[in-house]
Amino acid sequence: MIQTFLSREAEMLQAAEAIEDGVGSGELHLLPEQPDEVDEAGASAVEGRLLVRRALARERNPKLRSMKIQHVQRMGAPLQCEVCSFDFVKTYGELGKDYIEVHHVTPLHAIGVRETKLDELACLCANCHRMCHRAGPGETWRTPAALRRLIQEVSSQDR
Ligand SMILES: [Zn+2]
Ligand SMILES: [Zn+2]
Repeated sequence: MIQTFLSREAEMLQAAEAIEDGVGSGELHLLPEQPDEVDEAGASAVEGRLLVRRALARERNPKLRSMKIQHVQRMGAPLQCEVCSFDFVKTYGELGKDYIEVHHVTPLHAIGVRETKLDELACLCANCHRMCHRAGPGETWRTPAALRRLIQEVSSQDR
């Protein structure tokens, strides 16, 4: 237990710094508490909660979002989920045009407070986005690549 804490000390310090920065910049006040912040047992770590809220605030940055979408479109790539290839236009027609959710691939405690680069952002459908963020206490978010592996694993199992 103590060993685990000690080995995570650097991580905790980074989390604390990121939180301080978020509080200082007012970013943390931009978003109300999110339903996902509370784990299934009804409890959650304050650090985790604040980091989640801060990352979500960043993901709501409309400028970063449209820069990412424009970048993908300029590359001639289809605007679809990087994990499951869901394409909003194929399913929803005109309504889904130019729609995709933009997700921070690198957990915030790992990138600290530096600016986000476009290649740290992933385009995801709403389901895959939720599943990337879904984590119990002490777990970090899974990356889109990890989620893709998980889907393959599950689909290869006999059900
Ligand atoms: Zn997806
Ligand atoms: Zn996200």
